[in-house]
Amino acid sequence: MKNRSTPDHHKTLEETMSATIIAIDDSVEVLLSIGATLEQDYDIRVATSGKEGLPLVAELHPDLILLDIMMPDMDGFEICRRLQQDETLKDIPIIFLTSLNRQEDEVRCFEVGGVDFVTKPFSPIVLRSRVTTQVRLKQQADLLRFQATRDGLTGLFNRREFNFQLDRDWRACQRAKKQLSILMIDIDHFKLYNDTYGHLEGDRCLQSVATAIRNQLKRGRDRVARYGGEEFVCLLPETNVQAAQHVAEEIRAAVQALAIPHTASIIADTVSISVGGACEDHFIDQTSAKLLKKADDSLYQAKEQGRNRVVFL
Ligand SMILES: [Mg+2]
Repeated sequence: MKNRSTPDHHKTLEETMSATIIAIDDSVEVLLSIGATLEQDYDIRVATSGKEGLPLVAELHPDLILLDIMMPDMDGFEICRRLQQDETLKDIPIIFLTSLNRQEDEVRCFEVGGVDFVTKPFSPIVLRSRVTTQVRLKQQADLLRFQATRDGLTGLFNRREFNFQLDRDWRACQRAKKQLSILMIDIDHFKLYNDTYGHLEGDRCLQSVATAIRNQLKRGRDRVARYGGEEFVCLLPETNVQAAQHVAEEIRAAVQALAIPHTASIIADTVSISVGGACEDHFIDQTSAKLLKKADDSLYQAKEQGRNRVVFL
């Protein structure tokens, strides 16, 4: 089984497109017939109560939940209410399983936030059609969410997503009294590169550099985004100056090791980068914007001092 515990923004496109369904019903018989109906097309997980099902949902982040209403202990509406209180789970679509002749339940399914309902005993064709429709809608929404956070050319996070992550990591590090480091990275003489080799080669160069940077970020929390044209930015939570300098130097060396020819460069025969770093460690009277500015000033210094180097102010 694939590891599905990673947060959404870590999922690859392929993982985003495969579908897991969790069915919660106190009747084993119902669960068996759901399994028989859907297991050929989906990864089906089952639970016989909310107590069992809620942790499973939190762990697997399924694409769809089939939820019985009438259950002892915790009913389907209560399970739905709890899921909607969780920011990371509230967008998972829920199809309620209702018993015939409970029409008031059907109205309530939509009121509490369900996307559809299926009456029991269900016809396999009806269940399969409704599931297919909802899974497709969920996957389209996932794809749009994924694309909204990414830079189209390099596949790295885009600037909008970086700003969001910076804000989140800033507050987390401040709370935990940990350091937060930022690296601003710029490809040296990139305009000359484009002028010499053309924009198509320029795009390939950006992709190679992006991959080289990403490969140097070994910890799960570290992030890299495309900040602008040939500018990248790394977010290194819980990282002190020494560690950040080390990462920066490794990134610089990794780009140099790509050995992409750049005959027009004034400082080297191959593509190189300049890196400006900044580290926040006390957070008092500081803002994330000031930290970003400091990293940018460091980058400016790296350029001033001759490029293809790392500078921390
Ligand atoms: Mg039941």
